[in-house]
Amino acid sequence: MFKIPLSEADITNKEIKAVLNVLKTKRLSLGPELEKFEKISAKLAGVKYAIAVNSGTSALHLIVRALGIGQGDEVITTPFSFISSSNCVVYEGAKPVFVEIDEKTLCIDVSKIEEKITNKTKAILAVDLFSYPADWDELNKIAKKYKLFLIEDSAEAFGSEYKGKKCGSFGDAAIFAFYPNKQLTTGEGGIILTNNKEIADFCRSSANQGRKIEGSKWLEHIRLGYNYRLDEMSCAMGAVQMERSKEIISKRRKVAELYNKKLKDIKDLEIPYAVGDVKLGWFVYTVKLADKFAGEKRDKIISEMGKKGIACRDYFQPIHTQPFYKEGFGYKEGDFPITEDTSRRNLALPFFSDLKENQINYIVSNLKNILEKGL
Ligand SMILES: *Cc1c(COP(=O)(O)O)cnc(C)c1O
Repeated sequence: MFKIPLSEADITNKEIKAVLNVLKTKRLSLGPELEKFEKISAKLAGVKYAIAVNSGTSALHLIVRALGIGQGDEVITTPFSFISSSNCVVYEGAKPVFVEIDEKTLCIDVSKIEEKITNKTKAILAVDLFSYPADWDELNKIAKKYKLFLIEDSAEAFGSEYKGKKCGSFGDAAIFAFYPNKQLTTGEGGIILTNNKEIADFCRSSANQGRKIEGSKWLEHIRLGYNYRLDEMSCAMGAVQMERSKEIISKRRKVAELYNKKLKDIKDLEIPYAVGDVKLGWFVYTVKLADKFAGEKRDKIISEMGKKGIACRDYFQPIHTQPFYKEGFGYKEGDFPITEDTSRRNLALPFFSDLKENQINYIVSNLKNILEKGL
């Protein structure tokens, strides 16, 4: 029997060497590795500025602050995402206003945004969900028409492209995240990407306790700042991951293709939607189960797969149904039926760049057995 994790970082001797080298230099923060990591990240995303921070969540938080979003403001976003794409708005006292998702792409449904815009709306924060790019052309049009800021949460979309343009380059500012289950990892870590110097400078200063970008005395703080710095070990690892990113993304694409091929004819499940003028960087691999396997049945499948040594997961629980969103903003079950239905039917299978074909065969045959046998 195999024991297959849900995700696994792709670490080689190059990353190990890079981290050890940093330890030998004894320069552990704010050093050359930070500069190197930021430079290569900006280049690969195709933007002018990159500011590395200690998580994707920190990156989102600083962008929200940089845009001056706060008390009394509203930000339009998706309820189908990891919690931090919406928490970052709540941190600053603004209200996340959710818009239903598109059934196929699972990203925000751009046709339903305008009806939610009020005179309090300050920004749209769209997420490239499960690596599938949001509809950036339409989002840009709407943002322009109503003079709104546009934020790209590309935490899950390193390596993805929308109409030939790289994810991480859309909107006023974007982020990548580097938690170990993402395409590239630094352990913990995230990065802000932008072409706007003001946003870049504000974020760099805020991440480093509000110090001036240059020429600040160590204990001089010109604005309210945070310690969101990313250390040199993480940056060294991140730079190597960026250098290897082509290889890593191409391995992930191959794994996804194998899954697609082996799963596409199985009854009662849909393989991930990857249609359109897009390329995916493949963050996770999730299938959509038929209605008769939704909810508790899906959870039972997860536990049955677990008994076979295969780690699966539901992905995501809608943000508007999280207890503190219900209490704080009056959202409730039933508000976003497509999001809720997707959440009940989605099943994430083990997915990482070194997943082997015999492991995929084992996962697919076990899943097929469970679906055919019924629960
Ligand atoms: C992972 C993720 C984040 C945040 O990443 P952390 O580094 O864990 O803070 C934000 N948004 C989305 C959509 C994510 O998947």
